[in-house]
Amino acid sequence: MKTETKCVQGGYRPKNGEPRQIPIIQSTTFKYETSEAMGKLFDLEAAGYFYSRLQNPTCDTVAAKICELEGGTAAMLTGSGQAANFFAIFNIASCGDHVVSSSTIYGGTFNLFAVTMKRMGVDFTFVSPDCTEEELNAAFRPNTKAVFGETLANPALTVLDIEKFAKAAHAHGCPLIIDNTFPTPVGCRPFEWGADIVTHSTTKYLDGHGSAVGGALVDSGRFDWTKYPDRYPGLCTPDESYHGVTYTERFGLAGAYITKATVQLMRDLGCVQSPQSAYLLGLGIESLHVRMKKHCENAQAVAEFLQKHEKINWVTYCGLPGDAGYELAKKYMPNGSCGVISFGVKGGRTAAEAFMKNLNLISIATHVADARSCCLHPASSTHRQLSEEELAAAGVSADLVRLSCGIEDAEDLIEDLANALAAI
Ligand SMILES: *Cc1c(COP(=O)(O)O)cnc(C)c1O
Repeated sequence: MKTETKCVQGGYRPKNGEPRQIPIIQSTTFKYETSEAMGKLFDLEAAGYFYSRLQNPTCDTVAAKICELEGGTAAMLTGSGQAANFFAIFNIASCGDHVVSSSTIYGGTFNLFAVTMKRMGVDFTFVSPDCTEEELNAAFRPNTKAVFGETLANPALTVLDIEKFAKAAHAHGCPLIIDNTFPTPVGCRPFEWGADIVTHSTTKYLDGHGSAVGGALVDSGRFDWTKYPDRYPGLCTPDESYHGVTYTERFGLAGAYITKATVQLMRDLGCVQSPQSAYLLGLGIESLHVRMKKHCENAQAVAEFLQKHEKINWVTYCGLPGDAGYELAKKYMPNGSCGVISFGVKGGRTAAEAFMKNLNLISIATHVADARSCCLHPASSTHRQLSEEELAAAGVSADLVRLSCGIEDAEDLIEDLANALAAI
């Protein structure tokens, strides 16, 4: 099946007389005839459902759709994108370990890594996505367990050279984890470029309608943990909390990583997605390929309009020739990147505030990747406590406006922007 067909039909093949749409199994528990039958599930000797904190059929069906879209071997949903990125790392790195990460990543992920996970004893080295191969290789230590980056960084919009990062990760016997939230599998499939694990904030384009917070974790099944049993003992040696199961032996490379994340991390930390949210996510993905095309078309038209406008200083969008990410985007996202662009309004903070105030159709929201266009001026909202100097250090200039182009008509969006710019 092609990507478009997987969006619509992936993950769920109803049998004779079964519901055509994914059923919402709104049940915490599942009934068994005997204790032995349930015991086999607890021992991981049989597959099945017993408690929705570990697994739920609705969530698994939607995870299977995302798994097919990314071309993976196993996947799971989580309660948020934050939980997905935390699980992705914590499944293979714990106290005393080290991870190499691109420095241009989502602010929430940066905080998770640099503050919260650091407090748990996991050390991160942040490298510029533009670093040379030598600089990248120099970031590794004997205790490095993974490499992390975002295909298209939120909100910097830099494009990651996935092959460069995969090569360095594999040379040091580590998997590459890619957060593929912004392009979605419609725009880029990181496994095709050497990534080993993919994460998503499904809150964004996969849901697409701003209706449910969620995350996903997908394994390519290609990283051979058994080549490095000392580096990945959690996957390659017996788990005493499951009567000595060794995940790579029992579930193979295809299933070991996701099974461990499910039965250990989800069991103990419980960051589940609700079946209701998973249903909405599945419904959203059915139109993902149609929406992404429109998001990209609108962003391209709006970026070109803004680039020519006399009141605009600069525009960042990797679909614009000459943009820093243009060449990499052509390679990794030939069918379009995403609908988010950023630009600078002449006149700095005051002008940007006036511009925001005069938007009508485009709403002010911290959200991105929604069917409805939305806009944010960080210097007067999310980053308003910061001085001009602190803003510069955070890579957020006072004139920066982030615009997430929805799937409305491009001319209507451009008219709204033109009116707001005229009011400055
Ligand atoms: C939003 C976002 C996250 C965090 O996801 P939540 O669903 O908000 O927890 C992680 N990575 C990227 C790239 C994001 O855009």
